[in-house]
Amino acid sequence: MTDKSSVKFNRICFIGIGLIGSSIARAARLHGLADEIVCAARTHDTRRTALELGVVDHAYENPVDAVKGSDLVIFCTPVGTYGAIAGAISPALEKGAIVSDVGSVKKMVVDAIEPHIPDGVDFVAGHPVSGTEKSGPAAGFAELFEGRWCILTPSAKSGEAAVEKLSAFWTAIGSNVEKMEPAHHDLVLAITSHVPHLIAYNIVGTADDLEEVTQSEVIKYSAGGFRDFTRIAASDPTMWRDVFLHNKDAVLEMLGRFSEDLTALQRAIRWGDGDALFQMFSRTRAIRRQIIDAGQETAEPDFGRTGQHEDDA
Ligand code: NAP
Repeated sequence: MTDKSSVKFNRICFIGIGLIGSSIARAARLHGLADEIVCAARTHDTRRTALELGVVDHAYENPVDAVKGSDLVIFCTPVGTYGAIAGAISPALEKGAIVSDVGSVKKMVVDAIEPHIPDGVDFVAGHPVSGTEKSGPAAGFAELFEGRWCILTPSAKSGEAAVEKLSAFWTAIGSNVEKMEPAHHDLVLAITSHVPHLIAYNIVGTADDLEEVTQSEVIKYSAGGFRDFTRIAASDPTMWRDVFLHNKDAVLEMLGRFSEDLTALQRAIRWGDGDALFQMFSRTRAIRRQIIDAGQETAEPDFGRTGQHEDDA
């Protein structure tokens, strides 16, 4: 059990309050980890929804106003916005505060935020490896992080005590915490999350472009496998555009390997090499078994999905 007094913050500030920000806010409230929770959001609608849902106590338009008096500031906007926001809030950050984020890319995030962190403030980048294809504050839920991994990528401005406190915070809201080098994180996530999203976007786009097979046939027979790709391909376009623009090298490296392996499968089909296909499909089936055994997926029919606990990152 985590000792809550060692995890509690006076005022947590979320910069951006969509699916991830609002889920952390709800979890922090549920577990009593903050006296006050505030957010900065650019649109009036989002600020109003976050207030109406009771996810935050105060909502500000300007992030500079929101971070004042906060001892934990978490960036929860698309990663491409981080550098400019960090520059703007830098003079308003309180001494002793911890700044963190939830971005799906880590090396670029450290490079964008760390230069703006003043002395006396710690910065610990983070990435909860859980999510859904939905967006906005109403889509969040407190249990999103339970049993999922949160990767912290400490860097030059991450004091040991700040890393430990943030790690305890994520543990208190149900996550398993792992520490990693930012560049290694980007390589691992390129193959486990970023390339799979690109494949999903691509296959759904290809189906949409087909002329001989009609749209209605694609939709009618989607349970044949296509449907599962469409869930991933419904993920937020802004967030994913930023992920690909900012994890370019790792994604291109993994995409190169993927293309070579796809060519090998294409050759096996062309030459009727059933043994090669069978071996490959048996190997991949074993990997799914390992994911289920590790508690990261269910063995229930239809993935046991209720439409809410589906994981992206
Ligand atoms: P979301 O639900 O779409 O919420 C995004 C938030 O950022 C909203 O408050 C939005 O404000 C704000 N925002 C968007 N563009 C902005 C801009 N140009 N300037 C200022 N604010 C802007 O997104 P999310 O899924 O929570 O993702 C947020 C972060 O979490 C991303 O960095 C993503 O990489 C990371 N992440 C996502 C997942 C996932 O599965 N979704 C998983 C792990 C990590 P308005 O509502 O006012 O427009």
